[in-house]
Amino acid sequence: MPKIIDGKAFAAALRIRIAKAVAELKAQHNLTPGLAVVLVGEDPASRVYVANKAKQTVEVGMNSWEHKLPADTSEAALLELVHQLNRDSSVHGILVQMPLPKHIDSAKVLNAIDPAKDVDGFHVVNVGRLSTGQEALTACTPVGCVMLAKHALGKLDGLEAVVIGRSNIVGKPVAQLLLAENCTVTIAHSKSKDLPAITRRADLVIAAVGRPEMVKGDWLKPGACVIDVGINRIERDGKKILVGDCDFASCVAVAGSITPVPGGVGPMTIACLLHNTVKAAAAIKGVKAPEM
Ligand code: NAD
Repeated sequence: MPKIIDGKAFAAALRIRIAKAVAELKAQHNLTPGLAVVLVGEDPASRVYVANKAKQTVEVGMNSWEHKLPADTSEAALLELVHQLNRDSSVHGILVQMPLPKHIDSAKVLNAIDPAKDVDGFHVVNVGRLSTGQEALTACTPVGCVMLAKHALGKLDGLEAVVIGRSNIVGKPVAQLLLAENCTVTIAHSKSKDLPAITRRADLVIAAVGRPEMVKGDWLKPGACVIDVGINRIERDGKKILVGDCDFASCVAVAGSITPVPGGVGPMTIACLLHNTVKAAAAIKGVKAPEM
């Protein structure tokens, strides 16, 4: 196993398996999975992200719909669109791109999505299912993190895992997934005391903090696997660059395996969204999802 975990290559291989699964669903069940993405407003990063989702959805053979609404769309109008997509039998996955404009209650919108079509895994029903060990659609970035950790380490049973960050979109769901993989899980956060001492216990560190290069090599147990979720834009030597939450240069010297930024966790998120959409389509149709 190479020391640097190539998330881009792993995601590309996963997309090939997803495309095969889509072809199988079409041939055997006359079922074409479909993903509807809703974007409210003009946020440039969100626009790029939504365009990438649509492109990759089509590339694996699925149907893709983009609903672009102006920034002043009312909450009621957005909820009406969500209800319409819930009723549309050709749509199997609904994703409302976050963040939403301030005048819209994001939780209300996320919880209006039919849990069976909640391919982002943020609906309280899916969060509850995940935390009670039931079949659930689970948030994409956390699923991608665990896939990469298993790729690097094999079975995760009994490993000490430290998750840094307790957000609803990364920290908490990734901790639940690791618990389901039989890890001993610690969730650290901004109020944790002596973070380096906590991370030094870990066989597996998942950093989801949003602080550039915070985790240093001497915070790690030698040989630990490091999954760096952070995406931070900084300026160095007059150039704008992307860095993770881990100081790659010092961490790579101590870690057994580590994801780079960019090219680690990032590419996994959309691949896992497509993965979830296939799972959702099969479940809605009442057929077994093909192996992916
Ligand atoms: P968030 O801001 O919602 O949560 C950050 C968490 O880090 C909080 O729980 C906070 O308690 C903790 N934290 C903050 N400062 C800390 C400190 N000094 N020590 C310990 N813990 C601290 O962020 P998020 O949405 O979970 O995202 C985290 C990072 O992951 C961001 O850089 C984000 O851009 C990135 N991200 C990447 C992807 C992807 O596709 N790769 C997806 C989602 C988020």
